[in-house]
Amino acid sequence: MKVDHVGIAVDSIEAALPFYREQLGLVVVHREDVPSQKVKVAFLGHPKDGGTLIELLEPTESEGAVASFLKNRGPGMHHIAFETEGMERAIARLKAAGKPALDDKPRPGARGHKVCFIHPKHASGVLIELVEEGRQSSP
Ligand code: ZN
Repeated sequence: MKVDHVGIAVDSIEAALPFYREQLGLVVVHREDVPSQKVKVAFLGHPKDGGTLIELLEPTESEGAVASFLKNRGPGMHHIAFETEGMERAIARLKAAGKPALDDKPRPGARGHKVCFIHPKHASGVLIELVEEGRQSSP
């Protein structure tokens, strides 16, 4: 599977952006509130081809997975997301292998995509996100 993006938990997207823009030369390619995950996100990519994206995640509520990640560990790498075709098949395969995804079914994620997460205990300590392009995906 190809890496789609790397998620980084931040206290403030606005405070984090200048480093990625000015020092790494990335541009914001997409911004969105993702109420189902209680975050707002900014996706950053290479100005020409996008490439593998960086997703900055800022909690919008004091509860939620990203908010508790920040409370427990502070800002930092939160997950790696892989492009997935056939999300339902991937979820079934994981379940059959005794490493069930955290979600029984794909759920709505940013950019109109379907997502599901796999617990870090199955992936050497890293939270894994599977991403499948949804129907109403935005550029
Ligand atoms: Zn993500």
